Amino acid sequence: MSLLPENTTLWISGVRVLLPDGDWHQPEIADIAIADDMIVGIAPRYELGPGQAPPETLDARGHLVLPGFVNAHYHSHDVLAKGTLEEVPLEQWRLFALPAQYPPRSLAEVRARTLLGAIECLRSGMTTVQDMLTLYPFDPAHLATVLQAYKDIGIRVVFSLQYGDRKGLDTVPFWKEVFPPEFHHLLSSAAEPEKNFDLLAYFEATCLKAAPQPRLHWALGPSAPERCTPELMARTVALARRYDIPVYSHIYESKGMALQARLELQQYGGSLIRRLEAEDCLGPHMNFAHSVWLAPDEIEILAKTGAGTVLNPQGNLKMQCGLPPIKSLMNAGVRIGLGCDNCSCSDAQNMYAAMKLFSLLATVGDLRKGPPPALEALKAATEGGAQGARLGHLIGKLAPGYKADLSILDLSDPSFVPLNSVARQLVHIEGGRAVRHVMVDGNWVIKDRRFVTIDEAAIFAEVEAVMPTFRKDFADITARVARLQPWLDEAQQKIADTDVGIERLPRLS
Ligand SMILES: [Zn+2]
Repeated sequence: MSLLPENTTLWISGVRVLLPDGDWHQPEIADIAIADDMIVGIAPRYELGPGQAPPETLDARGHLVLPGFVNAHYHSHDVLAKGTLEEVPLEQWRLFALPAQYPPRSLAEVRARTLLGAIECLRSGMTTVQDMLTLYPFDPAHLATVLQAYKDIGIRVVFSLQYGDRKGLDTVPFWKEVFPPEFHHLLSSAAEPEKNFDLLAYFEATCLKAAPQPRLHWALGPSAPERCTPELMARTVALARRYDIPVYSHIYESKGMALQARLELQQYGGSLIRRLEAEDCLGPHMNFAHSVWLAPDEIEILAKTGAGTVLNPQGNLKMQCGLPPIKSLMNAGVRIGLGCDNCSCSDAQNMYAAMKLFSLLATVGDLRKGPPPALEALKAATEGGAQGARLGHLIGKLAPGYKADLSILDLSDPSFVPLNSVARQLVHIEGGRAVRHVMVDGNWVIKDRRFVTIDEAAIFAEVEAVMPTFRKDFADITARVARLQPWLDEAQQKIADTDVGIERLPRLS
């Protein structure tokens, strides 16, 4: 029996704890002492010291506490498009999902979508989200609305704007040659250049130099190396080093992106990673979302430089991108985080779905032996995402000195009966149904399955109020893409028919 630390403000007792070096199959039962926003002690059992006033208590017998998940790749700009699409190739999907295709959005819609996305993240036990947000055309009022929404709901956010300085049309193989010129203005990608506006300079002046705020962390979001000139990448990396903040960029999500590198980077052997290495852009600050079409030598360069990846298996499958080389990444010791990406391609902001797919794709994608996939999935969803965000010393683990960012699951849920292996049952059976309480920065955000910080029903009503406009705009976009279909298909076929030296798509007949 240990004495409860004197400054304890919340005493969680009798709970199974996923400790950093503990047994993740049969986690031990312990008490947790929290003081304000920090974990200050974990012990088999605490008792009050002499004369010590009892703090707030939670009897959590029959429950499991996990470090809050880190959704390490996400874009809040298209939350309202969840469930709108079936299978669609990534290059074509961009025309449905990305802000450059839409008329300007209302502040009411921006607020509603931000809160709705955060609600879904929190309900699956995510306490941190990396929002790589495209605001196009940029409007400071939209940025302020997004940040206020995150503050209101109480989730931790690693926030970056998504940017690039090359036009999408110039970065997708065959589009320029296949499409008649009169359609070129309709073809855009993830981040179109802003005319006469230096977004990066604005972001530094108004965000990076601003006073720190609780639960708000900054990051940089160059959309993809092929959408950024070497000058823009150099400015990005200089800022990341100056402010010690992470960089998130898409890389090799689809075969088309690998082919683009082969076509335009012959001086670097057709490799974006070799280009970035030559430009001194690699290092622990760098996180590459997707990494599906990384070649073996590129994986070695990531391992050598400390650059990491964020895998998004849900969207990769639905957008016909392929199977990421998960086992090769694990065996090489490359940092891996997990994300749920856009709602229009992944549909669910659910880390349980992402962990299950990660584990199964690792199993089938490479028949060699590797680390146990379920344990690696849990690590990626917690420690991996935290380290990539440069927050590995504060979140992603349950230990004294770490932030009180956690979720508490009810082990009487059928997912955990009988309790054979917590790790495997979390990854392969649980879907988020057992999540009962969620805490961020020492504050209850969900208590007994109900939101404490916001009125969930009122936000759903806000969403319904903006949907007529969104649905009309989405219908217009769908009609426009239908007109472009013959050329989209032609370009896609050309990509499919071209060898890029590696294969990440199954070939079944
Ligand atoms: Zn993305």
